[in-house]
Amino acid sequence: ATEAPPVSGDGAVAPHLTIVGAGLAGALLAILLAQRGWSIDVYEKRGDLRELGYERGRSINLALAERGRHALRQADADDAVMAKTVMMRGRMVHFADGHLDLQRYGRDDTEVIWSVHRGELNEALLDIAEEAGARIHFHHRLDSVDFEARIAKFGDDRGDTVREIHFDTLVGADGAGSSLRQAMAEVCELGDRSEFLGHSYKELEIPPGPDGGFQIEPHALHIWPRGRYMCIALPNDEGTFTVTLFLPNRGAPDAGTLNGVDGDHGDTTNVTKPGTHPAPGFDTITTGAQARAFFDRDFPDASRLIPALEHDFDHNPTGVLGTLYLDRWHLDHRAVLIGDAAHAMVPFHGQGMNCAFEDCVALANHLLQTTARGEAFAGFQAERLPNARAIQQMALENYLEMRDHVDDDDYLLQRELGNR
Ligand code: FAD
Repeated sequence: ATEAPPVSGDGAVAPHLTIVGAGLAGALLAILLAQRGWSIDVYEKRGDLRELGYERGRSINLALAERGRHALRQADADDAVMAKTVMMRGRMVHFADGHLDLQRYGRDDTEVIWSVHRGELNEALLDIAEEAGARIHFHHRLDSVDFEARIAKFGDDRGDTVREIHFDTLVGADGAGSSLRQAMAEVCELGDRSEFLGHSYKELEIPPGPDGGFQIEPHALHIWPRGRYMCIALPNDEGTFTVTLFLPNRGAPDAGTLNGVDGDHGDTTNVTKPGTHPAPGFDTITTGAQARAFFDRDFPDASRLIPALEHDFDHNPTGVLGTLYLDRWHLDHRAVLIGDAAHAMVPFHGQGMNCAFEDCVALANHLLQTTARGEAFAGFQAERLPNARAIQQMALENYLEMRDHVDDDDYLLQRELGNR
């Protein structure tokens, strides 16, 4: 049987919203509207990570910037989240010759970014969403939508159960592989296209030292730039670092002919850096043992700090990276997309989540201003789509900057002169 949307406790019908996905954007949007008296149901395909623990395979920690914090403050969630963060003052560049340089993000500690564990952040937002009155339904995977009858069908990864839900409006906060987006694309032209980067990533870990503390400077985002590939490491509040290796999918045949990797956005570099080697790729480094040899050669100071490198390389998934462009984010007044479902981007500006949080504030504001949802969604798209496009472009450009330029003499000179 199809279930009708719930009615609020006092019998008055509060405005109701059905959100698909209880990740970062879905949970924050639920908080913002539930705190303002809305009746909110969130459907999430996974189990409750507060009971099951965080499922590995997604980026483990994230850089939270002022854009994201501004949104968290609107939801009274900033204090709870900030309690779990580690401040990062700037980039700590690990040069090929072994020396280090801290490149500050701003003048002082008022201009910094923060590292936060994705699982801990999501847990904090889920707690606050439930406290605000949102109902979160785990093990509900959106499978299909009948937009005429306004019925959404959900399956359960643990069995064959199917549940049909009646909805007024669906919000797709179900990430880059959004099922709601696919359902919308069957009934209207979204103009969607994905561009893959041609580079992928693998996550590894630097554990705490023998005293339980951080083994390298905690208040920095560490970068090992090596021309066409790089490693980064972000601190976690329990004394570990999550290390992310970014490599081309296909290695270059030899130094000097390193251009022309398919789908490699805006990549004009065609030589390796002096002192580095022909670019390896995930096609040539396929085993933990090969990864160890590569790290010993190109990231020796990091290699010494990653005891489980072989195991983690062999067992952790290799993540693909891409940019999703849509010309349209909503289906009249019936459905709208936010966060990665609308505009997934490569992670090199650390802005995907921050941008998703800004979406939540913008969408909540538009919904609170008018009861005409189609109008609210159109206003939301007009406000946010140009911003998302700009950040997507900056994220692509920052990949070149991080891996190619932060150790350039010219870059360092410009920084000395205050131009960077
Ligand atoms: P998600 O976080 O993907 O959440 C989607 C939710 O929907 C999930 O809970 C999922 O289980 C659920 N779901 C999916 N399908 C269904 C379905 N059919 N039915 C029901 N539920 C479903 N951003 C930053 O701001 N800073 C960073 O430093 C940063 N680093 C990154 C590093 C890497 C390697 C990557 C890949 C991304 C990084 N990002 C970063 C981007 C950030 O992870 C995303 O922008 C952010 O997670 C988007 O949030 P979201 O809620 O839109 O999607």
